[in-house]
Amino acid sequence: MDFNDTPEEADYRAKARAWLEKNVAEHKAMNHADDMAAGKAWQRRKAEAGYGQITWPKEWGGAGGTPIQSVIFGQEEAKFPVQYGYFTIGLGMCVPTVMAFANDETKQRFVAPAVRGEEIWCQLFSEPSAGSDVAGLRTRAVKDGDDWVINGQKVWTSGAHYCDFGILLVRTNPDVPKHKGLTMFWIDMKAPGVEVRPIHQMSGGSNFNEVYFTDLRINDSQRLGAVGDGWKVALVTLMNERLAVGGSTGPNYAEIMALARSTVTEDGNALANDAFREKLADWYVQAEGLKLTRFRTMTALSRGQTPGPESSIGKIISANQLQDLSNSAIELEDQFGIITDTAIAPMEAAFQQSLMWAPGLRIAGGTDEILKNIIAERVLGLPGDVRVDKDVAFKDMPTGR
Ligand SMILES: Cc1cc2nc3c(=O)[nH]c(=O)nc-3n(C[C@H](O)[C@H](O)[C@H](O)COP(=O)(O)OP(=O)(O)OC[C@H]3O[C@@H](n4cnc5c(N)ncnc54)[C@H](O)[C@@H]3O)c2cc1C
Repeated sequence: MDFNDTPEEADYRAKARAWLEKNVAEHKAMNHADDMAAGKAWQRRKAEAGYGQITWPKEWGGAGGTPIQSVIFGQEEAKFPVQYGYFTIGLGMCVPTVMAFANDETKQRFVAPAVRGEEIWCQLFSEPSAGSDVAGLRTRAVKDGDDWVINGQKVWTSGAHYCDFGILLVRTNPDVPKHKGLTMFWIDMKAPGVEVRPIHQMSGGSNFNEVYFTDLRINDSQRLGAVGDGWKVALVTLMNERLAVGGSTGPNYAEIMALARSTVTEDGNALANDAFREKLADWYVQAEGLKLTRFRTMTALSRGQTPGPESSIGKIISANQLQDLSNSAIELEDQFGIITDTAIAPMEAAFQQSLMWAPGLRIAGGTDEILKNIIAERVLGLPGDVRVDKDVAFKDMPTGR
């Protein structure tokens, strides 16, 4: 493991930091209509400077850079108040899938505008009875001449209410086993037959949605990959998802230390409480483990290698730690813990927000249990999960209705 930047990496980091210092200041000084407008303007600014999608080829609006450069820029950007989440799913998962499977005309139309932040994409996979087992989905597409007619429902679609386009996984053949009867398409989210219904979350926000399809008609040219190859196409999206969702955001060990230092409980300063000190020690060990695991990923990228399963391990540990840490922080804040107004809550309600966000982080991009299954099967070589429906035609699977 190598903890230091190579001279080239140090040079790239210094240039990225200098660019960020100048451009974040200019960006913040502008009068953006709202957060979405600000996010789009920031993405455009990055794209013009070659920081929009660093590893993508120049012909598709990227900078032709290396994965380690992308990580370095991400680390530096995270230090500035320009975190706009609108593009994570589109640029991290959907557009790479379009690039891998669409024809040239489709790529010419969509890739560069997405990098410039002009159009936003969503991922339409999960359904009420198909989340971890996404291959069990029921939204149907039936061929009609050169078109497909789609009926069904998706759920938990992040950003569907503001997205322009989406990638949609549907069942085109129920007569074969579940993984073999799927096909992927791209769709226009504003087309007739698409209805987006926002889901109200406990945080008060509405970041994801139910999406209903009623006789949505799309042309066969919107297909991504071959008919029946949808699972293969979806795996490309899901592999990118693990990378895009991997890093957790939110308050960490240092912030709860700061909170504890400034909190006086009825037994004295929180830092003097033995039970709390024990928890602090556990979080410290986890935080150091995560840091060193990230260094391992960085070293692999720096050497041009593909990182191993550590992003799955990192996500399980960091999401659980965030939830545990937030619970303890709220307890520490006592009656102030119920205040969510950022203007008056301790530490601008950082822990109140992360308490409501952390459970979602443990589910999105693969639940804890699914990631543990992956680690057990692919890393530790333990026997596989029981898959009784693997060879059964989808239409013959017992559904209870
Ligand atoms: C913040 C957030 C954003 C999301 N955004 C999107 C999006 O943009 N697009 C999209 O398509 N989806 C999205 N999702 C949905 C997400 O992919 C699913 O919630 C996830 O795959 C789990 O599916 P499920 O909710 O149906 O739970 P289920 O799969 O029904 O799981 C229920 C419980 O059973 C456990 N379980 C299931 N199978 C196994 C097994 N084989 N072994 C052991 N335990 C098992 C799970 O771990 C879980 O605890 C999002 C979810 C969240 C939380």
